[in-house]
Amino acid sequence: MSKLIPIIGLEIHVELKTKSKMFCSCANGPFTAAPNTAVCEICLAHPGTLPVPNREAIISTMKIAKALGCSVNQRCKFDRKHYFYPDLPKGYQISQYDQPIGEHGEIDLTFDREDNQRTLAKIGVTRVHLEEDTATLTHDDSGNTLVDFNRAGVPLVEIVSEPDVETALEAKTYCQELQLIFRYLGVSTADMEKGQMRCEANVSLQEEGSYIKKDGAIQAKAGHTLHPKVEVKNINSFRAVEKAIEYEIKRQNDLIAAGETWRQETRGWDESKQATVHQRFKETAADYRYFPEPDIPPFEPVKLAPDISLPELPLSKRARFVEEYGFSLADAFMLTADKDWANYTEAVMSELHGWLHSLPETKTCEVSPLGGIRGRFCKPAKELARLAGGWLTTKLVGAMNERKIDIRILKIKPENFAELISLIYAERVNSTNAQKILIEMLDSGVDLDPSHVMEEKGYGQIRDDAALAAVVDEIVVNYPKQVADFKAGKEPVIKFLIGMAMKATEGSADPIMLEKMLREKLKN
Ligand SMILES: [Zn+2]
Repeated sequence: MSKLIPIIGLEIHVELKTKSKMFCSCANGPFTAAPNTAVCEICLAHPGTLPVPNREAIISTMKIAKALGCSVNQRCKFDRKHYFYPDLPKGYQISQYDQPIGEHGEIDLTFDREDNQRTLAKIGVTRVHLEEDTATLTHDDSGNTLVDFNRAGVPLVEIVSEPDVETALEAKTYCQELQLIFRYLGVSTADMEKGQMRCEANVSLQEEGSYIKKDGAIQAKAGHTLHPKVEVKNINSFRAVEKAIEYEIKRQNDLIAAGETWRQETRGWDESKQATVHQRFKETAADYRYFPEPDIPPFEPVKLAPDISLPELPLSKRARFVEEYGFSLADAFMLTADKDWANYTEAVMSELHGWLHSLPETKTCEVSPLGGIRGRFCKPAKELARLAGGWLTTKLVGAMNERKIDIRILKIKPENFAELISLIYAERVNSTNAQKILIEMLDSGVDLDPSHVMEEKGYGQIRDDAALAAVVDEIVVNYPKQVADFKAGKEPVIKFLIGMAMKATEGSADPIMLEKMLREKLKN
């Protein structure tokens, strides 16, 4: 049998954080209001009510479409998608069928991460459309089902990918990148655990060479039949995306190996069983009886918002962090994974680059088109970025995590963090003492100047001639044997003596000055 290739398509739903719901003026706050209070006749689908589309929601959807490289359709319409379920008061959902807001985009996951050489693909985006969310059902212990209509009518965007995903890791990375894009755009909080962002995966395994990809699906080549696909729902975290797909690939692999066949079905990820379980056999589009929504006229999105400007998106920001500042790709990834962290980093680096610009060693560095030093090609800038990257992503993040301090409440101003980095870079303080300064800055609860802390606590490097001379005298007195050995020609002993002197100053002495003075002293 030829090799089996996993074919995975992803459907992501994301709730928009607009002021009001999709088709009525109810507040869009389904999680904060008491059950069934954020509702009106329209979202409860009373007879005779008319839906009015939310302009803000359409504009947010256009932003998502553009951010994913989709073309925004000239003319769009809403359609009714029919199915019966208690979470759907109208008996149909207002969605978009054949004229969605955006089509034919792509998410680029081909990062060449220098730390781990994994290469991921570019994933095609088939369509981006706007619809309304359904009510929330809760099943209680006595077998009753409770319905909360607060969520009914919340604007919901669906993003359908091409079946380009081939691994569970790729699927997870795709979801993470989408979440980041939603957050950068400011259109949704997109928290998977809160159900604001949901993932469904269509998974099948096909023999290599037996299919072609066409119109967002796969088709069997002549003489071949396809294995049925399985839709996996109820995936509520990034971890679950990876686990559910890994599980489903293995399950289908085993079925094929055992010569079994199955019907196209919908399965749900069961977190407690760590398995997918059968839910129902899948409807096809025809079962939904789509037809144009007669109560909402077709519309032209571009007329609603002629010029939409997008903020810098994660992919460009990462590339710029590498290019402009000289960060490693791994650090650039971590520092852009949260918009507030990215802004903080930007402020720190802008301070540091201003300072670096004034140093003689950067005079020969290439000037970036953005005006500053081109970090990637400037050795001192690159060293400084590696230093700052390490201190931001490990020392600062680590200390903040221990204290449960979020970046949004961090008291250390970017300019003061930058100053601490510059003190380390200029070797005015060693790493151990810099760490102590950082902790004081964090624990003080106010914005402290690191230079003041350094001076006040005597954390700075000792460069004072008299002070260092006193240390050297002390060492020579305390270690006569080693001194004699060195004088007799045992060169490596100098390392021991320097080590003892560093220890005597708790690591604060300038090691270069110290060595020079020690050698001078031992000459006679
Ligand atoms: Zn309403």
